[in-house]
Amino acid sequence: MTADCIFCQIIAHEAPAEILYQDERVTAFQDIHPAAPIHILVVPNKHIPSINEASEEDAALLGHMQLIAQKIAKEQGIASRGYRLITNVGNEGGQVVYHLHLHLLGGKRLSFTRYI
Ligand code: AMP
Ligand code: ZN
Repeated sequence: MTADCIFCQIIAHEAPAEILYQDERVTAFQDIHPAAPIHILVVPNKHIPSINEASEEDAALLGHMQLIAQKIAKEQGIASRGYRLITNVGNEGGQVVYHLHLHLLGGKRLSFTRYI
């Protein structure tokens, strides 16, 4: 837990969020500024600032994040329609919150040429 990290605070239930799923390794919650009809963030409970700081010991955790995103997509009814999983990395990648997260975006046809 990093005290000044908003996602660590959400994971610890110290900041408000609409949490859809939580286990001992990951938490998923609604994005506060949805960019698509469905916009959910899947985050590791461990504070990893970005994918740049992930290491081999995080490999299973990164895989678990993907599989939880898949599970949530099924629950949201968009798995067969299709959706997008995105991780922004660093300044030029558009990362704003420096706690690793997977954006699960869906519920509409997403553009091939744009982020959403
Ligand atoms: P990124 O640009 O990849 O770092 O994305 C950060 C995402 O976190 C954005 O889509 C924000 O809308 C979202 N966000 C920031 N603060 C919160 C919060 N308190 N609760 C839920 N989502 C948040
Ligand atoms: Zn954090």
